[in-house]
Amino acid sequence: MLVERDAYHEPVLLEEAVASLNCRSGGVYVDGTVGGGGHAGLILERSAPDGFLLGMDVDSEALEAAEKHLMDFGRRKHLVKANYANIREVLTDQDISKVDGILLDLGVSSHQLDTAERGFSFLHEAPLDMRMDPQSGRSAYDVVNACSERELKEIIRQYGEEIMAGRIARAIAAKRKEAPIRTTTRLAAIVVGALPGSARHKKIHPATRTFQALRIYVNNELANLYRAIQSGTDCLKSGGRFSIISFHSLEDGIVKNSFRSLEKGCICPTDMPFCSCGQSPRLKVVSRKPVSPSNEEVAANPRARSARLRTAERI
Ligand code: SAM
Repeated sequence: MLVERDAYHEPVLLEEAVASLNCRSGGVYVDGTVGGGGHAGLILERSAPDGFLLGMDVDSEALEAAEKHLMDFGRRKHLVKANYANIREVLTDQDISKVDGILLDLGVSSHQLDTAERGFSFLHEAPLDMRMDPQSGRSAYDVVNACSERELKEIIRQYGEEIMAGRIARAIAAKRKEAPIRTTTRLAAIVVGALPGSARHKKIHPATRTFQALRIYVNNELANLYRAIQSGTDCLKSGGRFSIISFHSLEDGIVKNSFRSLEKGCICPTDMPFCSCGQSPRLKVVSRKPVSPSNEEVAANPRARSARLRTAERI
């Protein structure tokens, strides 16, 4: 029996993601981004009566929420504060050698986005933070106020795919000389002010890409994802499934290309056509096209709209 999630986070592609793992009783599963425990709960239900789930998250608030939501599963689940990039080490610590399925549901939870103090959203006035784990690492405040204009331009261009990155970085560098940029709303106003009128009337808020870029950089999201795919693959039993839900093209590109590389037999970047690293194929991609949410799901939960699910199976 599942305890109410208390609106912590509405899981995206819930049925599709859990079905992709082929859950069975006795199976061992990892939810590397347990959040409020929505996906984890269904994995536990589908692997009843004695499947086991290891849930990981870097955010203590998420672990508290998941612990409450999954209370009734008792010792069939275990939750740990850990980065999914360290999946292999975490499993070794738990005396687990191989697992039947791994799920990553990338990005931020609704709870993180809607809690003003976490500083993820330009819609709420709050200190610039954006750390998934507020107890460790550099915050967005540190990055915005300490990086050089060139570094900021590169971060915003690369991780936000923002064509106006140069203008935005220049405006940030100029405005922080007047006073450090402490809040989400001041940063958003600086971004808006840096853009020409024609760029301000797009469907998305003009600061969206800059905020995405800073969040990715602050949390080292893309490097963590590469590492998780690489070491997670080694932790799967033969026939075990790896499913990843991504929310923007940078993440989806990494998932697609890494799965393909592991299918071909190497994990070298795809721009190395003559790779001779000698790795044998380790994954088989389950379906070439990613799974997207239905119109009904997007209507009920607009945050699902950009979700893409990809699954691969360990050979
Ligand atoms: N599937 C979850 C549910 O049903 O409630 C929601 C997951 S939410 C979209 C993403 C979660 O991943 C957040 O709670 C976030 O703190 C966590 N997270 C982000 N990066 C992480 C990392 N590198 N390692 C572990 N957890 C991470």
